[in-house]
Amino acid sequence: MIRFYNTLSGKVEPFVPLEPGIVKLYTCGPTVYDFSHIGNWRAYVFEDLLKRFLLFSGIKVSHVMNITDVDDKTINGAHAKGISLEEYTRPFIEAFEKDRDTLGILPADHYPRATGHIREMVDIIKLLLEKGFAYRKDGSIYFAIDKFPAYGRLAKIHLEDLRPGSRGDADEYEKENVHDFALWKAPKEGEPVWETEIGPGRPGWHVECSAMSSKYLGRTFDIHCGGVDNIFPHHENEIAQSEAANGVKFVNYWLHCHHLVVDGEKMAKSKGNFYTLRDVLDRGYDPREVRFLLLSTHYRKMLNFTFDALEQARAGRNRIRDFSFDLRDVKRDGPANPEVTQLIETARAGLIAGLEDDLNISESLAALFGLIKSANRLLAQGSASRADAGNLADFVAMIDENILGINPTDVPLRVDPAKMRSTVSDVAIKVESSGDLDLEIQKRIDARQKARAEKNFKMADEIRKELLDSGILLEDTKDGVRWKKVGPART
Ligand SMILES: [Zn+2]
Repeated sequence: MIRFYNTLSGKVEPFVPLEPGIVKLYTCGPTVYDFSHIGNWRAYVFEDLLKRFLLFSGIKVSHVMNITDVDDKTINGAHAKGISLEEYTRPFIEAFEKDRDTLGILPADHYPRATGHIREMVDIIKLLLEKGFAYRKDGSIYFAIDKFPAYGRLAKIHLEDLRPGSRGDADEYEKENVHDFALWKAPKEGEPVWETEIGPGRPGWHVECSAMSSKYLGRTFDIHCGGVDNIFPHHENEIAQSEAANGVKFVNYWLHCHHLVVDGEKMAKSKGNFYTLRDVLDRGYDPREVRFLLLSTHYRKMLNFTFDALEQARAGRNRIRDFSFDLRDVKRDGPANPEVTQLIETARAGLIAGLEDDLNISESLAALFGLIKSANRLLAQGSASRADAGNLADFVAMIDENILGINPTDVPLRVDPAKMRSTVSDVAIKVESSGDLDLEIQKRIDARQKARAEKNFKMADEIRKELLDSGILLEDTKDGVRWKKVGPART
């Protein structure tokens, strides 16, 4: 049974989706005023692990991530450069998409942009005005938090801390300054203005997530994620807006990822400890090493990013890679050793049990590394056959493609996916020639490369397994795909 810690209840709860077999997931996306930093990427990698695990469990996931392209920060950035909001945010949106692919994060089904959903936001604000949850003041429209008694439930703010009647226009503020927040901001010199039914102006930050989540996922959906810094005021305000407007529960499970600190300190440009993904990769790290580091600390624990920790992540990934490579050297014929089969089953059970327990990745990785340790012992003793090696390689590759995404034996993915597509047939090279089967195998390898380039990892995995079942082991190297005969994997 899958269980998650729900910020709303403050407890670990069994996870039951609204509709069996389908999960509707909303994750707060980037505010595109700058490159996303590694703290942002930690949250996105956590969300990717969550999504991959749900998919792995046979659950369909409908995933929406918003792009905030109008708020205080983007407006200030565009204004400072004297260019339009669209011109200012476009390169940061493109960088986000590129970095996401570089880190092996599965794309969401929708990336709605705030500027493309002004109408939907206006509709919610209209409803809130009609129902008496919102009021006008000096051309702006505010949400009256004292009209919504459940306000503060997510962030655990006590009612006596509320200061009804005080107002603020800033998109972000601290718990100590809890106040009525702006849904719609009056026109201001140097800011973009939309002419709408509720008057001219521009939206506040929080209303976009209420509008876009309900548009794509419905008024009530299963899981909403973000970083802990989103809990207040952003997610608290989303709940207030959505539930007041729609009269139904907004979200069943709230999952929040803890902060990332650098050398034990909060990241800040002024401290010189502020890193974007690009900054880290420029130091010569493989993006999958970064992914492994971000992934391998439980999402509800503070992650202390250091270059030592990154070296450890590199070593951990290398252990998986070395193991996968060593399996190719197993030459002994013979049936599968039941001990190896048992090791794989134990590892599979441990891995799943860990993830089912509120995504306890430490337990899952312990199961995987335990398998590698025990299997290495059997390999050293010569107690494993080629069939065992095939089964082990199969298992590790399956776990990687489905859950970890650290690509231990693959080409570094620091390439543009569009470029990858155009060179698909060039990268599949053959190094062993053995008879008439070659052409057929090559065709399957090409089909797998094509599936991978199209991010159809399920099909790519199926082709790899199918080849392995007929005794062909694929190795992804930096020079392309190689294959060799290892004998049938299953006897
Ligand atoms: Zn949001």
